[in-house]
Amino acid sequence: MGTQLNLVENNLHEVSVDNKRMLFHIPSSSLFQLDEVTGQVIDQLRQQSDLTDRQLQQRLESQYSPDVIKETLRELLSMEIVSDGRPLTPEIGVKHVESFPLNTLVLNVNTGCNLSCTYCYKEDLDKPSAGKKMTFDTAKSSIEMLIKESPDETRYNLVLFGGEPLSHLPLIRQVVEYAEQRFGELGKLVDFTMTTNATLLNETTIDFLAKHRFGLSVSMDGPQAIHDRNRITVGGQGTYAVVAAKARMLLERYRSRPVGARVTLTRGTTDVIRIWDHLFNDLGFAEVGFAPVTSGDISDFNLTDAELVEVFANMKKLGAHYLEEALAHRNIGFSNMHQLLTDIHEGSKKALPCGAGVAMLAVDHSGGLNLCHRFTGSDLPLFGTVETGIDREGLSGFLDQRLDRTNTGCSSCRIRNLCSGGCYHESYARYEDPTMPVYHYCDLLRDWIDFGIDVYTRIRAQNPAFFDVYITPRKA
Ligand code: SF4
Ligand code: SF4
Repeated sequence: MGTQLNLVENNLHEVSVDNKRMLFHIPSSSLFQLDEVTGQVIDQLRQQSDLTDRQLQQRLESQYSPDVIKETLRELLSMEIVSDGRPLTPEIGVKHVESFPLNTLVLNVNTGCNLSCTYCYKEDLDKPSAGKKMTFDTAKSSIEMLIKESPDETRYNLVLFGGEPLSHLPLIRQVVEYAEQRFGELGKLVDFTMTTNATLLNETTIDFLAKHRFGLSVSMDGPQAIHDRNRITVGGQGTYAVVAAKARMLLERYRSRPVGARVTLTRGTTDVIRIWDHLFNDLGFAEVGFAPVTSGDISDFNLTDAELVEVFANMKKLGAHYLEEALAHRNIGFSNMHQLLTDIHEGSKKALPCGAGVAMLAVDHSGGLNLCHRFTGSDLPLFGTVETGIDREGLSGFLDQRLDRTNTGCSSCRIRNLCSGGCYHESYARYEDPTMPVYHYCDLLRDWIDFGIDVYTRIRAQNPAFFDVYITPRKA
């Protein structure tokens, strides 16, 4: 007789890279190269679903010793790739969030922006003159709330956000001074980050940002013909000339940390390689990251389905270039690829799509607590205020709905622990319900991750030092 065995298809995914069989172990997001015997065990179980351990031994005994087969089976059972009928471990142990290890606060210092980019999604975006500015009192209360709600972190991050954050520079200066003093006296570290349209930068501001080691990214969409399609002034003029000049000044002068560019891809813009080439090679950004818009508030700017397919195809072309250069030990700063390889390298597994609502909250200009920067000003109810603290019950209730994958398409998806149902704000924009997974480009995402596994395997085999130099230190 023997024990009946079953392959747990829900826990494994295979990608072949040249003649290697790579196994992506879904519960741990780990990648293994299948040896011959493991591959054969899997094949046998796939061919016949009710095979017993004895039958398996008989089928493979002409090729492998009983001990080798037993050991292989033991490993597959321990990884729950094969089941012998015992209940499987619930995949991601968290089913309820009670504690919030908050370490990042996004401060919306001004709802106003000095530009008028046609596609801008911000729910609370105002023209410069109507911008609602955060007061120093609110900013101070935000920092005090962070310390009170989450006193045990060693490192905190304050993200200065807008509108255009530099349109309220006096507050940023006050926040930095207060935060450095306050976290300093507690023996904690504080980091500052900011995404800016760059137009208001000057040498004095750059030196201030450098002194406080701001992590900076510049919103820029590529060469002039592409950038000026959407990134325009209130009067309708393209902003490329000024942004490019300021970016050059910044990149020349800023030595504290690498500076990235953040590109928004909207309808009609799919030329990832040309954009990367301009921002990386011509302007000298250290990293270029692409954000395809598919669920913006202004639907005319969403990429069409065909364009989205093209965007992913182009990202794969740029990914192939990334691979080529990585094998020559160079990093081309393609953030989306770099992040995917980091996730695979570190075996990231996420019960939730991002840190919003757990490690991160966004404070709107008047002190309301939102899931993230994209929700400030939206109709989604607040999760507390900086004065009253986090509405823990409300926030746990929200997160519980996303943690429970029962009856969702995500429960059997092979990238469920990397995607985790996608961005809450995309769901909100698309279905008016941030608790629903975003299903709209799952096949493209799954294919992109298979591509990442392929690239990862090749770099690992041919230039493993790339990971030590370019991936691990980035996290540290
Ligand atoms: S949203 Fe789609 S791709 Fe993401 S985990 Fe769910 S089914 Fe998979
Ligand atoms: S909810 Fe979406 S936009 Fe907000 S932090 Fe998460 S992934 Fe980003």
